[in-house]
Amino acid sequence: MRKFATLSLTGGSCALSCSYCSSHYISSMEGAMSVDEFEKSVRRMNSHGVKGFLVSGGFDKEGSLHIRKYLPIMRRLKKELGVVFNVHPGIQERDVVEEMSDAVDIVDFEFTFTDAEIKEKGLRRSSVDYVKMLDLLVSRGPKYVVPHVMVGIPNDDPSVAIREASSFHPYMINILVMIPTKGTVSERYDMPSVDQALEMIKLSSSLNRTSLGCMRPFPLKKELDARAMEYVDRIANPHPSLREKMEIYDACCSLPEEFLGEFKVRS
Ligand code: SF4
Repeated sequence: MRKFATLSLTGGSCALSCSYCSSHYISSMEGAMSVDEFEKSVRRMNSHGVKGFLVSGGFDKEGSLHIRKYLPIMRRLKKELGVVFNVHPGIQERDVVEEMSDAVDIVDFEFTFTDAEIKEKGLRRSSVDYVKMLDLLVSRGPKYVVPHVMVGIPNDDPSVAIREASSFHPYMINILVMIPTKGTVSERYDMPSVDQALEMIKLSSSLNRTSLGCMRPFPLKKELDARAMEYVDRIANPHPSLREKMEIYDACCSLPEEFLGEFKVRS
């Protein structure tokens, strides 16, 4: 029985066409495209044992998820059912960030800090917007904020994003590794190397608590996960050869300790 599920507030649609996604990674999520549909989905899944939800979806051209109208029902469902919400909001206004603080448990924030990454997402944004949003989240938003930094974008130096994100002392930093994805621009990109990813994982873990996120190329997993174990606190979907050495949870890898007990699968 699943304990954690994903919901997309936009189904499979997104106004952006990031070179490594083009809506590919949201298209398999269950859609909850109205407040009513969202409430019904959460209640139905919760009645089958689901206790946590990753609330994601496509962004608009400004890099925002339209989360505002869902916040009142999220707040109510949290109180009533005790469920946990992880949200991928992108950039938001200050009032939305403040409103999220008691409706959302964890913010997974794609920290799109470098020019190379902004270009890959086709965003009309600058690094300043992402720094301002991270500052706002840490000072006015939900208790747990987890900036995500992607490694492996061509001509990019993610170390500057890791250093900048760490300067805000977030609860955790999540490292993702770009997957050259069929049917997107990135299928022509070189696969990042294990050493390249590990260098950033080591840097991040020397500055801040770090997790290794679910986006990473399968061919790298066996070696990368084994070598990353020394440096990270959590690994999403670890390679099967390592599972015996780990505590296993059915949850997003950014879930804080205070919630973990409910999601434990095996010690
Ligand atoms: S904004 Fe998110 S969902 Fe949209 S294309 Fe980019 S990575 Fe995919």
